[in-house]
Amino acid sequence: MVQSSVLGFPRIGAFRELKKTTEAYWSGKVGKDELFKVGKEIRENNWKLQKAAGVDVIASNDFSYYDQVLDLSLLFNAIPERYTKYELDPIDTLFAMGRGLQRKATDSEKAVDVTALEMVKWFDSNYHYVRPTFSHSTEFKLNGQKPVDEYLEAKKLGIETRPVVVGPVSYLFLGKADKDSLDLEPISLLEKILPVYAELLAKLSAAGATSVQIDEPILVLDLPEKVQAAFKTAYEYLANAKNIPKLVVASYFGDVRPNLASIKGLPVHGFHFDFVRAPEQFDEVVAALTAEQVLSVGIIDGRNIWKADFSEAVAFVEKAIAALGKDRVIVATSSSLLHTPVDLTNEKKLDSEIKNWFSFATQKLDEVVVVAKAVSGEDVKEALSVNAAAIKSRKDSAITNDADVQKKVDSINEKLSSRAAAFPERLAAQKGKFNLPLFPTTTIGSFPQTKDIRINRNKFTKGEITAEQYDTFIKSEIEKVVRFQEEIGLDVLVHGEPERNDMVQYFGEQLKGFAFTTNGWVQSYGSRYVRPPVVVGDVSRPHAMSVKESVYAQSITKKPMKGMLTGPITVLRWSFPRNDVSQKVQALQLGLALRDEVNDLEAASVEVIQVDEPAIREGLPLRSGQERSDYLKYAAESFRIATSGVKNTTQIHSHFCYSDLDPNHIKALDADVVSIEFSKKDDPNYIQEFSNYPNHIGLGLFDIHSPRIPSKEEFIARIGEILKVYPADKFWVNPDCGLKTRGWEEVRASLTNMVEAAKTYREKY
Ligand code: GLN
Ligand code: ZN
Repeated sequence: MVQSSVLGFPRIGAFRELKKTTEAYWSGKVGKDELFKVGKEIRENNWKLQKAAGVDVIASNDFSYYDQVLDLSLLFNAIPERYTKYELDPIDTLFAMGRGLQRKATDSEKAVDVTALEMVKWFDSNYHYVRPTFSHSTEFKLNGQKPVDEYLEAKKLGIETRPVVVGPVSYLFLGKADKDSLDLEPISLLEKILPVYAELLAKLSAAGATSVQIDEPILVLDLPEKVQAAFKTAYEYLANAKNIPKLVVASYFGDVRPNLASIKGLPVHGFHFDFVRAPEQFDEVVAALTAEQVLSVGIIDGRNIWKADFSEAVAFVEKAIAALGKDRVIVATSSSLLHTPVDLTNEKKLDSEIKNWFSFATQKLDEVVVVAKAVSGEDVKEALSVNAAAIKSRKDSAITNDADVQKKVDSINEKLSSRAAAFPERLAAQKGKFNLPLFPTTTIGSFPQTKDIRINRNKFTKGEITAEQYDTFIKSEIEKVVRFQEEIGLDVLVHGEPERNDMVQYFGEQLKGFAFTTNGWVQSYGSRYVRPPVVVGDVSRPHAMSVKESVYAQSITKKPMKGMLTGPITVLRWSFPRNDVSQKVQALQLGLALRDEVNDLEAASVEVIQVDEPAIREGLPLRSGQERSDYLKYAAESFRIATSGVKNTTQIHSHFCYSDLDPNHIKALDADVVSIEFSKKDDPNYIQEFSNYPNHIGLGLFDIHSPRIPSKEEFIARIGEILKVYPADKFWVNPDCGLKTRGWEEVRASLTNMVEAAKTYREKY
């Protein structure tokens, strides 16, 4: 029998139980007992579900109360001193490292005030991990035994599991040096950490684990030579240690071939590779295995919600069996299922035709099992034919295919994606039109999403107020925001986005080609989960989406009003994309749909239009090379398609945030004005990089994630700092990002100070 394997299961619970209990714990509503009870229930449910589905190799230690990488930092004692000095319980130390902790002293407890460790994107997914942070004083040792405890917990239920841990090379490489030890290179800690890994593995072995999944996902990145060499050091060390279980080294989300030399011949039991993302690596990785090593074939997509095509999956695994024999092949999910929603059967509102194309984590368990049975020669004819029918129904469906859209994409030409004139000419035309002062001030779009706004939106969704009543409410919110901006003297206004639940969902709901779930939550970080829309078919815009609100806003002020849209790449990145056409085609379709909207806005006299692309950086392929340059090309092209249908006098803005941006990546978008998150960037070289940016730019001046109010003097100092390297005539004044999560009081004070600071500079220049 060929074995089936699942690399990890979502740990949030079918109905977000983990979020509910951790948040209740943080706010003091429930205690540790309740928190641990819910955690245990989720783990047990997950194991039982997998067992019942017939999965042979089930993961343990895939559970976490916050993040699996953070768990390891706690376990290995990589805890910066600022967290240990309070002598918190381990779970509270974990949460303090993950999200910071601020608490007043009580009779029984000391006051605590500590910020969180850095949180970063997990490869190219929308999951974020807490960055291991090392210093010269880090002393690795086993600080608990979570993987052992969870292994035993499953065993007690009669379920044999394969514990999973992030491997030593990835764990170190994904970390960074702490502020006080900036000269420390994390990978140089390898020799110090290996004995602790060996100790952990020996403990797992003593508890009965025969095999461990050790994740080395960095194998899909461009790695420095030192890191490549670390694999040999690490795995030879572990192979020579005593009582080590069999190790299966797992990589996912890409192609390992550029690093194949560093893992070839490693003394491990086998490897797992992702053949959903990189089927083209098959021949070379198979050739690199030793005569005994097993291959875990990642063939059921852990990153998306589409049903697997069984005929393709079976054929692929059969190829592996032909090369290696049945005993050396395992059928697996491509990655952990952490990145997919828990259970499709909880979707009660999804159109049944579309639902038949989807497979969430629970359904994917059956998929791995069916494929494993099929290649083992068991009779699964019925399952195969039901699957073939679903695949065919999707391929042929009118929801998937829109001939008009396809025709439009085919006829995209150079002209469609270029503005009528180059930037200098547009700039002159826009100067004449808008007459903006030097250091023009603006905001990024959203204003506080107050309780009142949410209540009214809910009432409207539930039918408790009429469309007309809701409309009147939204108009009054817009008016409030407009008057406020006039009063404090902002130059380019926004309407405040009160009508939007979310910057992607709002547009997705109005576009043809999207589907939405009611319970399709996926963990983004800690207790923050998202419910991504799904691109199910060719995308088009049946009607205007934002024109009404923007036109109203413009009609009540003489100042220029910015229309506000979400760009093609961001809509795509924050959705589950189609897997039957390329992401490029999907981006171009979104670009075309948005073009109609941009043109409609202009025709209705909204002549400053911002198309946000905050996700452009995270979409960047993990490795440099062809794929990355192709991406940058189509990302820019789809943006330009959306924004090039306007007159020279119409000013196109764009906005970016969330990660370090390379100005070269956004030049090709050719927006007239861009704003970027910048308030926490201190490196003068980084500021310098932006001074060569040809068009106008607003480097975000204050952090919108914090309630802190910067004073006028602070703004003046910061602007002065930037002006040392950055030309005054390109300089826009704005916050880091939208203000939706802030309160009105902070917004009023911060923006007032910001505008006053800009005025000070106007007098000087
Ligand atoms: N216009 C959006 C807002 O202000 C942009 C949000 C974002 O960049 N994440 O909320
Ligand atoms: Zn932003």
